[in-house]
Amino acid sequence: MGLNYQIPREKCFCLQCGNQLNLGDGRQDRKFCSVACKNKYHNAGRQMLSRHYKNKVIRILDNNNFILRRLLSMGVTSLDINTLRQMQFNFDFSSSYHKIGRRQLYTCFDVQYELTPTRIMNIRDLLERNI
Ligand SMILES: [Zn+2]
Repeated sequence: MGLNYQIPREKCFCLQCGNQLNLGDGRQDRKFCSVACKNKYHNAGRQMLSRHYKNKVIRILDNNNFILRRLLSMGVTSLDINTLRQMQFNFDFSSSYHKIGRRQLYTCFDVQYELTPTRIMNIRDLLERNI
């Protein structure tokens, strides 16, 4: 099973320092939090994401994975989105995404879930053998 890293909203964080971006002013294409960060990034000639940025994404995915695994351990396979938000689940990030018909399937590392407008459903441990 190959995990395909996908960052649906990669513009949430500054590509240089990893701080959250303020997108409230209507500029949705912003990639940096400041001119200083933009210059630093380009001066370094970076062709890849900074370590700060990657660490931030990994921390979010790790936290999502922890929440999903805790739900599975309690036998919970479906939960409403608001409750998950209160648990600090971050819906902006996943490790893969597949659309199968009308089903929106996401994975967070080794846990799969289906997202509907109000709930996540069919939370499933991909490492579990169904023999
Ligand atoms: Zn920055």
